[in-house]
Amino acid sequence: MDFDLTPEQHELRHAVRAFMRAECTHDVVRESLAAGRRSEKLWRRMAELGWLGVAIDERYGGSGGTIVDMALIIEGIAGGEPATGPYFTTVCFGGKSVGFFGSEAQKKFFLPRIASGDCAFALSITEPGGGTDVLGAMQTRAWRDGDGWVLRGAKVFTSAAQQADYLVVVARTTPREQVAKAARGITLFIVPARAPGVTMRKIDMLVPIGDTNAVFYDDVRLPADAVLGEEGRGFYQLLATLNNERILGGATALGLGTAAYEAALAYARERTAFGKPIGQMQAIQHYLAGMATELDAARLMVYRAAWLQSQGRPCGVESTMAKMYAADVAVRACDRGIQIHGGMGLSEECDAQRYWRLARLWQIGPITNEQCLNTIAELHCELPRSY
Ligand SMILES: Cc1cc2nc3c(=O)[nH]c(=O)nc-3n(C[C@H](O)[C@H](O)[C@H](O)COP(=O)(O)OP(=O)(O)OC[C@H]3O[C@@H](n4cnc5c(N)ncnc54)[C@H](O)[C@@H]3O)c2cc1C
Repeated sequence: MDFDLTPEQHELRHAVRAFMRAECTHDVVRESLAAGRRSEKLWRRMAELGWLGVAIDERYGGSGGTIVDMALIIEGIAGGEPATGPYFTTVCFGGKSVGFFGSEAQKKFFLPRIASGDCAFALSITEPGGGTDVLGAMQTRAWRDGDGWVLRGAKVFTSAAQQADYLVVVARTTPREQVAKAARGITLFIVPARAPGVTMRKIDMLVPIGDTNAVFYDDVRLPADAVLGEEGRGFYQLLATLNNERILGGATALGLGTAAYEAALAYARERTAFGKPIGQMQAIQHYLAGMATELDAARLMVYRAAWLQSQGRPCGVESTMAKMYAADVAVRACDRGIQIHGGMGLSEECDAQRYWRLARLWQIGPITNEQCLNTIAELHCELPRSY
């Protein structure tokens, strides 16, 4: 059994760490937090380094890497939000989804632009009526009009929409009563973020990720080639991308937990009480040792799932377990990180509280941890579906 990364993957991991230390500094992150959006300079640098095109085929300007490479990058840059911007939504929902389901013309148009940093993506699925029962809640619809389509509906929590050039929007295109299963008759559309009829309102969130939005689609006119993949099969296409989404969600959580652990370890070495560094107190040592152990377990789970996916092997259960476990571990690690920093841990200038706020998202998105347990109960424990 070989648990090691390849030499290239080790190199990538070191490159990401070096980039974060040298370029994604505390001040750069603070500037992005104040501006509520990515640092353009970092975005361009990530494109230059080939990270925006890491999993895009070489024919379309990418470097043809795997989900393991994507996970390594995401884990490394997670603590830099919002300065590192909509990396996740762009590589996962732009690069991967267009790569999987796009027509040749869409691939030729979008993929080189994503790789060069000229095209950011956001994903607009969740609706006000609920994100877990996504099909039951879906009111957004689109219908044919002449050669094209008209899109009407409203979404919530569309992250990075204000920084996106295109939104992948999920809409019902065949009325529910005309299909045998709710999953049928759903279509994905690539919608220009500034198309007439698209409006957005930023939602104030605890999670500091730049922007999360209510997005309104008021009779947005779209050309026929706005359809991504096959008409009516959009939900099945989404299901096919779930493993990627969960693996990368797990990798983000892992990166946040690791950032919290490293910051707390450094603080424990320098902060003194009773005439010695607090890192010499057994209570603090136990916190750090527990964080390190749980993060190590989460890392094994995330990388096992990523490796299975990169080999084209089934990993629905593994990717769901990895995202759920990594999110819980990250929140615990970030909470301990605050505790180790004492009062400073809750101050705005300290990253400990920012890591916690970021990590908390991953227990809810892209799928809640309760829904992860439902999936594991059904697919792994082979128990009847409970909902
Ligand atoms: C910061 C942030 C960013 C996000 N970004 C995006 C984005 O970019 N694009 C996008 O489309 N969406 C995004 N989301 C939405 C996210 O995917 C949803 O919040 C998530 O799917 C849960 O949906 P909900 O919030 O409507 O909760 P609900 O579905 O209403 O669930 C409420 C509670 O009930 C529980 N529950 C529901 N059904 C069951 C069941 N069968 N068994 C057990 N428990 C159940 C849930 O686990 C949860 O605890 C984001 C959310 C957040 C917080």
